[in-house]
Amino acid sequence: MPYTGSCHCGAVTFTIAADAPSEAMSCNCSHCSRKGFVLTFVPADQFTLDSGADKLTDYQFYKHNITHRFCAICGTQSFAEGKSLDGPIRAINLCCVPEVDIDTLKINRVDGASF
Ligand SMILES: [Zn+2]
Repeated sequence: MPYTGSCHCGAVTFTIAADAPSEAMSCNCSHCSRKGFVLTFVPADQFTLDSGADKLTDYQFYKHNITHRFCAICGTQSFAEGKSLDGPIRAINLCCVPEVDIDTLKINRVDGASF
């Protein structure tokens, strides 16, 4: 069943055409740890931006492989745009998906700080 997410102020909303995940990724790199991300990854064609395209601002660093998208009003980064070997993907910040209870997810920890 599709699930939805949003930034804090509600300007940016999106729908994922997939079941909500039971697992997620947590990473200790300088970026993920500062923002407290709990992430899942979906093919870009499962992601629909429902509102807020004109409110989104970008942040990029290092190799600029990932476009971190955040709301210019409330500052929340609810998703990012990237590429995998299989094509474009979206990284979804599950902290911005109200119907997902972070405490019930199996968290797969990635040692991004060592990459
Ligand atoms: Zn916002």
